[in-house]
Amino acid sequence: MIIDDEIRDALGENRFDLPDGHPAHRRMRELLMTEGEIAEFESFDQETNQVRWDHNRLEELGLVTSRPPRGLISKYGSRPAWYLFGHEDQEEGEENEGHHSALEQYQLRFDVDILLANRAPLAAALATDGTEALAWYIPFHDTDSEWGIYIRDIGPRIIANRCFPDLLRTDPGEALGLAFDFLFAHEFFHHISEIACTTLENSNPSNPLYRPYFDRLVSGDADEALEEALANSFALDFIPGKQYKDGLRGLMDDCPPGYRDYGEYQSELRFERGLDWLASMFTGKPFSRSNRYTFGHGLFSHPNSVFKRMEVPVHDTTDISPCAPALPMCIFKNITVLVDVLDRVKHKKTPHDVRKQFKKSMRRLREWGEIERNRRWNKTARKSWFFWDVTSSWRMSLVEETHGDWVVNFIGNHTEYDRFRERKKLN
Ligand SMILES: [Zn+2]
Repeated sequence: MIIDDEIRDALGENRFDLPDGHPAHRRMRELLMTEGEIAEFESFDQETNQVRWDHNRLEELGLVTSRPPRGLISKYGSRPAWYLFGHEDQEEGEENEGHHSALEQYQLRFDVDILLANRAPLAAALATDGTEALAWYIPFHDTDSEWGIYIRDIGPRIIANRCFPDLLRTDPGEALGLAFDFLFAHEFFHHISEIACTTLENSNPSNPLYRPYFDRLVSGDADEALEEALANSFALDFIPGKQYKDGLRGLMDDCPPGYRDYGEYQSELRFERGLDWLASMFTGKPFSRSNRYTFGHGLFSHPNSVFKRMEVPVHDTTDISPCAPALPMCIFKNITVLVDVLDRVKHKKTPHDVRKQFKKSMRRLREWGEIERNRRWNKTARKSWFFWDVTSSWRMSLVEETHGDWVVNFIGNHTEYDRFRERKKLN
């Protein structure tokens, strides 16, 4: 890793506390809000509820997990399997019943609009902070020890659902991987930019450059947001395939000024010009097309051997309150099991455990009389069709025929369920 403690110490007086405008402070508040507090969000006086970024507090609460530093992916492929679900291996146990378990919390496919409608602070964050609502960069100039790239767990899911819905259906791992790559590459550009500015700063250490520049970057002033446009353009370049790029463009076009101006820097020539303008901003000049720092290219470009060592710590960040769209409340007045299903359960080839769990599940659903969230309870794409995990590999499908009247019309193992799902168009 190029940026080590020695280099950070050498920055001396040029290190600083995160400026008030940094998006991480706003993310801190959102990450810590419970569902009840979110409901009250509208009545919040946001000025007096200023919460400051605090990595250690998040760590104590188990909301941040740090991973070893990583470099940038190589373009178009050879991506390491960074972003595997990790939640799929959830122990099959009963201790989680009734809680917001990881499995339901990390639902893969959802309607982003419904999620945002239920989650005002997240919607507000996207409108204000664009990409930084989902991931953010804490510079190594920060006085705190934990610098690096923070990825909010809902971030890749929002991007995958909004930008690559077809891929998410057929290859969820790849869809989440691409979404993660995009966020990581965007934040990594902020790192490249910090190194570029530090190179200038080091030529005259008594004249701090990064701090005043960074204050301007996070000020929320659209004239200072060139780096965001370049970061989005840079990140888009890492995503292969026109279809996926177009998906991301749709997302970025809805982002605030700066973020949505990536299109101006898509050609190599224009991107290079953008770097020259950005470098001139490092020296304190306002953004202007006539202010070009002649050696901009050199500040941002590194030989491969150096580039490979430019690694950044990655921190996975989780919201304390599950980020999933609310599911409809399901009421069970009556549950009928089709004869075929009963026959299958009783069949001598059906594992004993499935038989036992099926009985137990039916008893529970009938006793509870209603479900809103349960990790075994899953909505399909078809209205009134749900499925229930009987065991880790067997599922049954339930359909609400009239209000409160349900029919169990299928039970089977994973492969059988996949076929059933395809046949019934439950995707
Ligand atoms: Zn950014």
